[in-house]
Amino acid sequence: MTMPPADAEARRAIPPVICYPTETLPKPDLALYRAALSGAEVTATTLAPPRDACSFTVPAGHFFRITSVDGPQVGDLNLWNAHDLSERFYSGKTRALHGTHVTTGDRLWSSFPTLRPLATVVEDTLDWYGIDAFGGSVHDVIGTRCDPYTGNLLSGSQYHHCCHSNLIRALSAACDLPLAEAERHVHDVLNVFMCTGFTRDTGQYFMKASPVRPGDHLTFLAEIDLLGALSACPGGDCSSEHSSDTAACFPLQVEVLAPVTGALDGWQRPPPNGYDRTHGVT
Ligand SMILES: [Zn+2]
Repeated sequence: MTMPPADAEARRAIPPVICYPTETLPKPDLALYRAALSGAEVTATTLAPPRDACSFTVPAGHFFRITSVDGPQVGDLNLWNAHDLSERFYSGKTRALHGTHVTTGDRLWSSFPTLRPLATVVEDTLDWYGIDAFGGSVHDVIGTRCDPYTGNLLSGSQYHHCCHSNLIRALSAACDLPLAEAERHVHDVLNVFMCTGFTRDTGQYFMKASPVRPGDHLTFLAEIDLLGALSACPGGDCSSEHSSDTAACFPLQVEVLAPVTGALDGWQRPPPNGYDRTHGVT
């Protein structure tokens, strides 16, 4: 181990600065969104079965709501532009902008080069949870998704109902794509209802039993036309393990809701990012 320099403590004592102050981010009109949601009607309902995934489409300006139904359950969410699978949810940039976990008012951002909000969280019944004494919080954008490759690496397993595989099957069925092609489009997720953090002593990613209970829900406004896929994680409430069939597992419900005509007057679909993409070449 390297000997600390004489000014080690002084270097450690430098206060941090926020990487991306969000004061200049375009702000969603949450009051407008909430008013539109209060009069919205359900137009479609889908269920992600335990250890499996469902897909759904949401027109721009409509809402989608993920609800815990039969028991505590964590979900892994992927989102794409319904007309272009290359534009998809970018969990890393969402984390850089909003922090490790998202809640009401935060947005799910899309990949480069569009980098625009795909969806905005309008309602979160777990917003009371905050950050617990372990540093844990709910709805994370730090985990990736449980997958069979990591399981194989760590224990030599061949498990086929990890969220990664569930999302591949759902996208393959939704877009009539071969599995290998669908796999290229599955990406790091929003971990809906999952309670996670990093241990303070070793910096390791941890999970703990989700505080979600049946009836809890997370509701989004679709900012553009969306295709979504949601996996009911084989980890159930993620209190012990995932990537196996041992945890109690429950379905998750997805509803699409249409606001009444005129309820979102003044709202506009976000345009693609304004950077000119010349990257220094003139
Ligand atoms: Zn999972």
